[in-house]
Amino acid sequence: MTIRGSREPEVVVVGGVHGDETGGVRAIRRLREADLDLHRGVAFVIANPDAVDAGKRYLDSDLNRVFPGNPAGDREEQLAAQICELIQDRTTLSLHGTRSQPTPFALIHRSQPPQLDLAARMPVPHVVDHWGVNEGAITSCGLSVEIEVGPQGTEEAAVAAENQAYAFLKLVDALPGDAPAADPDFFHMADPIRKPPGISYEVHVENFESVPAGTAYASVDGQELIADDPFHPILMSADGYSDIFGYGGTKIAESLESAQQTLLKTERG
Ligand SMILES: [Zn+2]
Repeated sequence: MTIRGSREPEVVVVGGVHGDETGGVRAIRRLREADLDLHRGVAFVIANPDAVDAGKRYLDSDLNRVFPGNPAGDREEQLAAQICELIQDRTTLSLHGTRSQPTPFALIHRSQPPQLDLAARMPVPHVVDHWGVNEGAITSCGLSVEIEVGPQGTEEAAVAAENQAYAFLKLVDALPGDAPAADPDFFHMADPIRKPPGISYEVHVENFESVPAGTAYASVDGQELIADDPFHPILMSADGYSDIFGYGGTKIAESLESAQQTLLKTERG
C-alpha cells in the first residue's frame, strides 16, 4: 500500500484494490499531483501497487475478497489487514473498474447502514448492496463505499473515477463546494449467473433494467438462455468473467427511506 496526503488523514480515497483496474489508479495519481484546497486531512492510497505494476487483478488472493485481512497471511491478506486498520475509523471511497457498465454505480454492505446513507449522496444512478454475495470486500471495514466505473482501463474510466473522488471529497467537506445532486435507486446483488461451457457468448439485456421471466437474456454459441425468474442484471457482460456472466439482482427501493427500511429489516431478520 502506498499512502500520500496529510499526516493525520480523516478521510481516505483508495484506488488499485484490483491491480488491473487502472481508472482508479490514474485518478489517485492525478489527485496526488493536483493543487487541492483540502479542508480536511485526506489520504490518497494505491492499495496494491505490486499488482498494479504487474497489470494483474491480484498476486496471491483477490484483495477485495479477503477483508478484514490477516497480518500473518499471504500478500493480499496482509494488505487487507493494513488497509482495514487505516480506514476503520475514517470515511473511505474505493474506486474500481468494470468491463460491463459504463454508468458508475456504488456498492455497499447492509451490515454498515452509514454506508447506505453516504452512497445515496454520491452522483451515481444505482446503489447496490452486495451482502451475502461478495463477502470479504473493503465494505467489511468501517464507513467505506465502493464505486464501479467503466469501462475498465480507459481514459473515460479514469475521468469518471476522478469525478467520483471530487464529489466524495465535497460530500465529506474535504473540498469546498457541493457535489452534484443524486437520486439513485437501490438494488440487492444476488446469485451469480453461470456461463455454460462454450466458445462465444452474447448478453441481450441491459444492466439494472428489469428482465421478465421467459426473456432470452444471453446466448452461448448461438443458443439462447431463457430466464426462469425475473431479475435485474448487475455487472453482466459477455466476457468480463470467465465462469459467470454477472449477477442477478433485485430492485429494493427507489428512495433512501424505503431502502433503509428494507435493508435494516432483512439485516435483523
Ligand atoms: Zn475491482
